[in-house]
Amino acid sequence: MQKIAIIGGGPAGLMAAIDGAKKGLHIDLYDQYNIGDHIRCAEGFFDTLNILGEPKYGVRFKVKEIELEIKKDYVFPCDEKTNIWMIDRREWQIGLAAEARDLGVHIYENSPVSKEKLKELSHDYDWVIDSSGVPSVTSKVYGFNQFYKETSGITVQYTLLGDFSDRYGSIKAALEEHYDGYYWIFPKSNNEANVGLIFFSENHLKPWEELERIIEKEGLSTYTKTRKFGGMCPVVRPEKLVYDNIILTGDAAGLVSALHGGGIDNACISGQLAIQCIAANNVEAYETEIDRVLGDKLKGEKDLADLVYSMNLGVLDGIVKMVRHTNKSIGDFGFLNGHAGAFEKFAILKGLMPKVFQK
Ligand SMILES: Cc1cc2nc3c(=O)[nH]c(=O)nc-3n(C[C@H](O)[C@H](O)[C@H](O)COP(=O)(O)OP(=O)(O)OC[C@H]3O[C@@H](n4cnc5c(N)ncnc54)[C@H](O)[C@@H]3O)c2cc1C
Repeated sequence: MQKIAIIGGGPAGLMAAIDGAKKGLHIDLYDQYNIGDHIRCAEGFFDTLNILGEPKYGVRFKVKEIELEIKKDYVFPCDEKTNIWMIDRREWQIGLAAEARDLGVHIYENSPVSKEKLKELSHDYDWVIDSSGVPSVTSKVYGFNQFYKETSGITVQYTLLGDFSDRYGSIKAALEEHYDGYYWIFPKSNNEANVGLIFFSENHLKPWEELERIIEKEGLSTYTKTRKFGGMCPVVRPEKLVYDNIILTGDAAGLVSALHGGGIDNACISGQLAIQCIAANNVEAYETEIDRVLGDKLKGEKDLADLVYSMNLGVLDGIVKMVRHTNKSIGDFGFLNGHAGAFEKFAILKGLMPKVFQK
């Protein structure tokens, strides 16, 4: 029986653990904390490829509409086909960990894997799946930890308590002219929401000051802040995803959407693909499999991001207004996975009339 060590009990590691145990592999999972602790996330679960389906644990609601603010507000309904949920990630991960344990996975909590420990694991196990997020443990051993810092989106977020009853069931994303990125309001219940922002490229702004301004602008300054954290969203893949017998998954593999910064779905799928390749004795195929399943989505999102975040917001507002007037659901445009036919046409126009589109 093949012995696998997994580093990290986030989405990528837990999915790999469950699938690996189901395939009869010996799985040991190590996390530096208790599973579910210190999660940094807005807790929107975007299954835009319709591969994962409804999360088994921790669902708060299926998102009914997305509010997109450019110059004005546009509300896009989500139909049945649009798989976006708000979840409690802690509850979800604790549920997945319990499922993994029931399947025979040994989970070692409060067990940080150091550089030296990674070398030991690599020696003692047939395969190591590095799902440790960013900067990954592998990057510290193989010398590319700086790569994530140079290529990741930067986020900051508060969890706020207050009245969100008028927003329950919907999530909001708002673009602003003075940075490449957006801010979000993702309610989890009538009285709790994650409010944060992401910068996709370097600028001179102070992210926490910007978030305070946004909270003021949204009329949320009297709400109670219960959690505060920031983090990196790695949107670029490192040069390789396999280092000797170590396989990178999830954020460690740079699999976050360059359009919206979401990476839970890609983390889960990459964890599953890593296990499939190990079980088939074909780890050489791992990167090809990642490309086959996630390649179009990630490239489409990157192309759309390059277009949207470089565009004059007045022009973008006009486009979104036209798109909204077609009265279609957001799923029909593939907004969230980059297969946006309408946007592709505007990309061509942007090439022809760059001055009109320029920020
Ligand atoms: C502010 C913010 C908001 C976000 N919002 C969303 C969102 O709404 N929707 C979405 O899809 N994505 C979101 N993301 C991205 C998403 O959180 C990640 O893509 C996702 O968590 C990646 O999963 P992962 O399993 O690869 O890594 P992680 O979730 O980072 O899990 C890594 C695990 O490894 C453990 N670990 C780390 N180092 C070690 C070590 N040395 N030894 C042992 N264990 C270790 C950690 O404790 C952790 O449990 C957000 C990210 C940020 C920063």
